[in-house]
Amino acid sequence: MSLPGAPHLQRHGKELQLDGMSLDALAREFGTPLFVYSQRAMLTAVGAYQRALVHRPHLICYAMKANPSLAVLQTFARAGCGFDIVSGGELYRALAAGVDPAKIVYSGVGKKPEEIKAALKADILLFNLESSQELEEINRIAGRLKLKARVALRINPDIDPQTHPYISTGLKQNKFGVAYAEAIALYRKARDLPHLRITGMDCHIGSQLTDISPFIAAAEKILVLVDMLTDEGIRLEHLDLGGGLGIRYNDEIPLAISDYVSALLAVMRGRSEKLILEPGRVLVGNAGVLLTRVEYLKHGEEKNFAIVDAAMNDLMRPALYDAYHDIVPVKRENHLVQNYEVVGPICETGDFIGHARELSIAPKSLLAVLSAGAYGMSMSSNYNSRPRASEVMVDGKQVHLIRERETVEQLYAGEKLISQVL
Ligand code: PLP
Repeated sequence: MSLPGAPHLQRHGKELQLDGMSLDALAREFGTPLFVYSQRAMLTAVGAYQRALVHRPHLICYAMKANPSLAVLQTFARAGCGFDIVSGGELYRALAAGVDPAKIVYSGVGKKPEEIKAALKADILLFNLESSQELEEINRIAGRLKLKARVALRINPDIDPQTHPYISTGLKQNKFGVAYAEAIALYRKARDLPHLRITGMDCHIGSQLTDISPFIAAAEKILVLVDMLTDEGIRLEHLDLGGGLGIRYNDEIPLAISDYVSALLAVMRGRSEKLILEPGRVLVGNAGVLLTRVEYLKHGEEKNFAIVDAAMNDLMRPALYDAYHDIVPVKRENHLVQNYEVVGPICETGDFIGHARELSIAPKSLLAVLSAGAYGMSMSSNYNSRPRASEVMVDGKQVHLIRERETVEQLYAGEKLISQVL
C-alpha cells in the first residue's frame, strides 16, 4: 500500500520500502541520517510536465536549488531538462554533472561580476535580470568579452502567492524582480544597450503554491507587458513563468502538474512564445525521505521527547518555516504509542523535526521523515560541527550512493590555526 502523497513509498507487511527497496536495509548499509531518493518519482514528475507541454515549444528548467546533488542533475539532464541556476556555484555544479549550458537560465538578485563572466564564457541560454544596475553590469561584462548576453527581465507582478512569507517572491515588498511599473522603461533601456539581446520575460512569484489563481493572475499581468512591448517593436521569443508548484507535506491538496500546465497554456492560447518553467520542489520533494534513528526517549515533565540523529542542520525547513514533515516508523513495532516531540541533538530549542507526533518507538527505532527531497540536503549546514548526511538514489533496480557522508576532517580542512603570540 502506498503512502498518501508519496506513491513510491509502500508498506510491505510491517516494513516501509521505497521503490521495492527496504529502507531498513539501506539505513543499516549506509548509516543515518540518510537521504534516500526515488529516481522514478523524479522522472514521473518531469514526465508529467513533458506530456502536458508536448504540443508547445518549451523548456523545463529544473530549479536546482531544490536539490543540487550531481546525480539528481544528471537524472534531469538525461530526461531533457534545462536548469535554473542562481549562483556561480550552481553553474559549476551543473557543468560538473554534464549539463548542456545552452539549457541554463541564470536567475537571482545579486550576481557577482565573476559569476556573470563565468556564465557568459560558458555560453548559457540566458540571464534573468533583476535590476536596472544589473542590466548595465551584464552589458559591461559582455562588452569586455565581445559578446552579446541573452537576457530576460524578471518582473515583480505584485501578486500574493498565498504561501509562507519567507517563500513569497512576487510581492512589491519583496527583493525580487523589477517593479511592474518600471518594466517597459527597463526593456527600452535593455534594447539600447549594445551587448544585450532581449529574448524574453520572466516571473517567479513564490514557492509551495497550492492554488492556481496567483499563477494565472501573474501570467495575465505579464502578458499585458508582453503586448505593450510588441507595440513598441520589442518582440519576445519566450516567457518564463517560474516554478512554485506545491506538494503535499501534510493535508495540502496540491494542483496536479497536468492541471497547472493546462491552466497556463489556456492563458497563453493563441501565442507563439516558447514557454519556460522553473519547477524545483514538485520534481524532487516527494521523491525523497530522510532516514533517522531514535537515540533516546526522554519523558520530560510536560512533554515526551524522541531524540533522533537527524537535526535542523540536516533538515532546516521545520526550524526555518515551522514546516510540517510527516514522520513514520520504518518498521511497525509494538511499543506504547506516545505523543513525542521529535527533536535533534543540536543545542537550539528550534531544533525539531516534528511536534506532537503519535509514535510507537523505542531507542534504535528507525524513522522516515517524508517529503524531504527538496530543500533538505540543499539547505543543510554543519552547525554544531555535524558532518552532512549521505544520500542514496534508488533507480528501480539498484541503489547508488550519490554522496558520501562528510567526515569531521572535511569540516575543518580549509581552516588555519594562527601562529601563537603569547
Ligand atoms: N525559480 C526561481 C527564480 C526561484 O527562486 C525558485 C525557488 O525559490 C524556483 C524557481 C523554484 O521554486 P519551487 O521549488 O517552488 O518550484
